[in-house]
Amino acid sequence: RPLRDTRSLRDYIRTIVDFPKEGILFRDVTTLFADARGFRMAVDQLLTPYAGLAIDKVVGLEARGFILGGAVAHQLSVGFVPIRKKGKLPGSVISEAYALEYGEAVMEIHDDALKSGERVLIVDDLLATGGTAAAGIRLCERLGAGVVGCAFVIDLPDLGGRALLEGMGYDVHALTA
Ligand code: AMP
Repeated sequence: RPLRDTRSLRDYIRTIVDFPKEGILFRDVTTLFADARGFRMAVDQLLTPYAGLAIDKVVGLEARGFILGGAVAHQLSVGFVPIRKKGKLPGSVISEAYALEYGEAVMEIHDDALKSGERVLIVDDLLATGGTAAAGIRLCERLGAGVVGCAFVIDLPDLGGRALLEGMGYDVHALTA
């Protein structure tokens, strides 16, 4: 490994063909997370547009949004709130269902995790159709919080997520396509 590493963020992300099923190009960020410089770059670049803004909480979407969101929250010196798949959170929750390619999924947040008026930054690894992020936004807003932005490492623009979220008036920040 050279003393001065000049790889870009994109170089750390591995693509796995046909995972979890045929036809999907899975963007594997474990190789990004495992590299000291890659992980640091990702976390720094995710939070840079929001530095100095009033943010009360970082909300991470299960599961890779926990790894990124936890680091972003620590760097911003704010608390972290998880949004999890149905049945995982132990306390009293509110739920949002959203459409998948086949069927639907349900995401949940503890009903006391955000206070009315709090300003949150939503973090996940990848934006595809935007269904997951939109469900996350609805959960935050149902608790009275305001969504300052949605930050992702990867945006797959052909799948329409950015257009969906920006069309709803939300800020979308992504580091690479
Ligand atoms: P969506 O709700 O369609 O925007 O999908 C976003 C969620 O699904 C994120 O939590 C991603 O981690 C995951 N995801 C969707 N497509 C991919 C992909 N091609 N590679 C890796 N993760 C993906």
